[in-house]
Order: sequence, then C-alpha cells, then structure tokens
Amino acid sequence: MNAPERADIFFPFDNSYARLPDRFFARLDPEPVSAPRLIRVNTDLAHLLELDPAQLASPEGIEVLAGNRVPKGSDPLAMAYAGHQFGNWVPQLGDGRAILLGEVVGHNGIRRDIQLKGSGRTPFSRMGDGRAVLGPILREYIVAEGMAALGVPTTRALAAILTGEKVAREKFLPGAVLTRVAQSHIRVGTFQFFASRRDDEALRLLADHVIERHYPDAANAERPYLALLENVIARQAELVARWQLIGFIHGVMNTDNMSIAGETIDYGPCAFMDTYHPETVYSSIDQMGRYAYANQPGIAHWNLAILAQCLLPLLDENQEKAIEPAQETVDRFPGLYNDAYLTGLRAKLGLREKRDGDKDLADDLLKRMAENEADFTLTFRHLSDAATLLPTEADAPVRALFNEGNAFDAWAELWRKRLAQEAGDETEREADMRRVNPAFIPRNHLVAEVIEAAEEREDFKPFEELMSVLATPFEGQPGRERFTLPPRPEQVVRQTFCGT
Ligand code: AMP
Ligand code: MG
Repeated sequence: MNAPERADIFFPFDNSYARLPDRFFARLDPEPVSAPRLIRVNTDLAHLLELDPAQLASPEGIEVLAGNRVPKGSDPLAMAYAGHQFGNWVPQLGDGRAILLGEVVGHNGIRRDIQLKGSGRTPFSRMGDGRAVLGPILREYIVAEGMAALGVPTTRALAAILTGEKVAREKFLPGAVLTRVAQSHIRVGTFQFFASRRDDEALRLLADHVIERHYPDAANAERPYLALLENVIARQAELVARWQLIGFIHGVMNTDNMSIAGETIDYGPCAFMDTYHPETVYSSIDQMGRYAYANQPGIAHWNLAILAQCLLPLLDENQEKAIEPAQETVDRFPGLYNDAYLTGLRAKLGLREKRDGDKDLADDLLKRMAENEADFTLTFRHLSDAATLLPTEADAPVRALFNEGNAFDAWAELWRKRLAQEAGDETEREADMRRVNPAFIPRNHLVAEVIEAAEEREDFKPFEELMSVLATPFEGQPGRERFTLPPRPEQVVRQTFCGT
C-alpha cells in the first residue's frame, strides 16, 4: 500500500508493538475527515511526552490529530483482541475505531502509546462506522484527566478534535477524535485472542513483550510468566481499590476493557457515584447490574481468572501442573484487594495506625451512608474538618448529608473513640485527610452540562472550566463551591449512555 506523505510534526516514535508478528494487528492509516477543528490540546501531558503543544495545535498538528496526515516515524495499526463482553465470549473484537500511531518514550523514561480513537473503519469494525461522537469523547477526556489528577492510574487524553462530520447514532451527532495515551493498549482480551486460537508462540511473544514493557522485574523471577500474572493481579487489585475509594464506576468491565498495565481504560458509560449505595449502576446497557459499584472487585477477580487460564500453556508443559500455581495466584486477589481497600479506608477516616475493628468502623459508616442517602464524596471531604476528638460546629456539614443526622452522631462517637487512640496532631490529620478525600470529582451532571453546551451550542467554555476545576481536586477552590455539590433533583442523570 502506498502510504500518503508523512507529516513533519515531531513524535520521537519507537514502535515496539509494530515489530511483533503481523497476526497481532492490521496495518492501516486512519481515515481522513472533512473539516477538522481543534477542541483542546493537553499541554501538561504534551510536556510529559516531550511533545510540543504548540506544534500539536498548529494546522499540521490538527491534521495529525484528526488522522488526515500521519506523522513521520508512525507505523499506524489496529490491534487485534478478543474478550468476554458482559460474560459472553466474543472471539474477535480488536480496534474497530482506533489506530495506534506508535509509541514514544517520555521524559520519565516511560513508554506510552499514542492512539487515535474515532479514526475510521478498520478490519475489526464489524458493523460499526469506525467513528466516535463528541459527547463520549468529551466524557472520556474529562473523566480520564480527572482520574489522573486524583492519582488513579489511567489512560490519558492528549487532544480532542471535531471532525466536521456528522455521525449517525440515535440521531445525527457531531463526530470527534480523541488522542489517547496509555502505557499500552494491551488488554486481558489480547491474551484471550491468541489463547483461544491455541497460538502458543504468539502468546509467548505477547507475554515477553508485556514483561519487558510493564513488568521488567518478572523477567528475573524463577517463573517469569507466573510472576507476570502475580504482577498484573497486584496492580489490578490496587487499581480497583482506588476506584472504590473515590466512588468510580467503570460501567463496562469486559475483559477487553481491562488493561494489562493496570490503568483504567475505555471510558464508556462510566460515572462517579453521588449518593452512596453499593448497588449503584449508571450504564444504560448494564440492565442486570453486572458492573454495579459493589461488584467491581469480584468482576476484576473473574477477569483475572480468565487471564490466568490464558497463561496456562506458558506456565508448564504439563497443563495439569500449571493449574495449581495459576489458581493459587488468582486466589490471592481478594486478599490483595481487601488490604489495599482497607489501607485506603483508614486514610479516608484519618487513621494512621492499624487496629482491629477499623474495617467494622468503616463498614458501619458506609451502611449508615447508604441508609441515609449521604453523598459519598462530600461525606468524606467534610469528615476531614470534623476529625477532632470532641464534636465541633464542623460536624454540622457532615450531619446535614444524612437523612437522619442522629445516624451520623452515633457513628461519630465511635469514630472519636478510635481517633483518641491515634498519636499525631489534629491539624496534620486534617491535612492528610484532605489529601485523600477530594472535593472535586467529575460528577455525572457536570459532565452532562459540558456535553450539552458543546453539542448544542458548540460552546466549549464549560469544558475548559471543568478541566480547570478538576486539575486540583484536593484543594479548596474558593468561588467554585458549585462544582462540589451533588445534583439537584432536576439535574440527576438517570442513565449514562455508551453513545458509541
Ligand atoms: P467498546 O464498547 O468501546 O469497548 O468497544 C467494543 C468493541 O466494539 C471494540 O472492538 C470496538 O473497537 C468496537 N466498536 C465500538 N464502537 C465502534 C464503532 N463505532 N465502529 C467500529 N467499531 C466499534
Ligand atoms: Mg473497549
């Protein structure tokens, strides 16, 4: 195929995935769009990648971010993968609307993929049009960057582009392209793709690639592939604990949406919980509540068991002998998750020391929050101010979040007994709590407001303002209180659509 002339814009590409065998991907260029316009370039992220944000925002840069021109050194491709979607096996998925331009190594030595999402059809598109629409692209941009600012491992958003084309969904909607950055786009489903085809050679090459790229220490372990599994499980346990601790609901935890590098990936109908309830689901496509908030750790465990199964041929020539260590490793997930979660809960409650009964204390609070329809984020944020040994007027804002204020008072008495066992001073405790209990999260109704302004009025000022608010989620931001508040009844977003 004759590649069109390459753009001169500078990306220091080193494309290790493209050097894997041909059956790992389909090589093709993105499909051009008619009238690309820049929505936003992420300046901080560009610097992290040692890219020039001004160049990205230049006319030639916009052509590249839209997929109209391919930068020099790029080896564009769509990755192959498979996966379980809502528990159902799908033997072939793959990038149906994304193109990996290549990999760059940023200033901290971390290798990262640069991918266009919404960049046209590929051999993996099946019935899809290969395109993405503005709303979900903005949602992914906002939530991914919000998560990054909250310190949660995640793919990032480098830029968003309007294509100037309409895309047919429930109605015609403006098309958009996201430039997504990830430590890699390799998924549990990538392993499934080769395992299900009994392609042990490809499986080994993929595992070696992942070890070299994401888990280099595993190479020196006695059993490197078992160490790989251990490492993926540990990162995933840590990741899902982080989600639970900030009330994040992924919405589509299919095995093809679980990154092997332990980053949050594929933001679709995701949302942050306002009122705390463990059974919360937002996604309109999750009718059975499979991916409800409280199910996320269990689903991660299930997905990792699938990964372990895929790795069996690499663990031992004798499959019977491979099963036991794989099972033992997978069985460690609940313990790792519970430890990470409890450690995080202690920090949220201002507890630096470990005591028996801390889990019960936290569970008791959560139960009362659920019964009293308390806002998840604000409860913990306001607790930071109330973390004194005796009640003060700082109790009032927390109390007010509970339908029955007494439900909080009764718990607070137990909490204060526990706080009294802690060393360290109160000011320090308050500061520590504020560092883990954010004031600003990408609340669903705020995201919806931004999307509405962009879709209906091409007004991106609300998007810019929200991005600025979310950049420092743990700091008080005077004048921006409205962004901390849960939705008023008429602002509640009942369902979040995938809107692919
Ligand atoms: P997702 O739900 O975004 O994780 O996507 C699941 C699968 O469907 C992936 O293989 C995507 O590439 C594919 N897909 C989603 N939307 C489209 C689309 N508009 N055109 C082509 N493929 C798509
Ligand atoms: Mg996906």
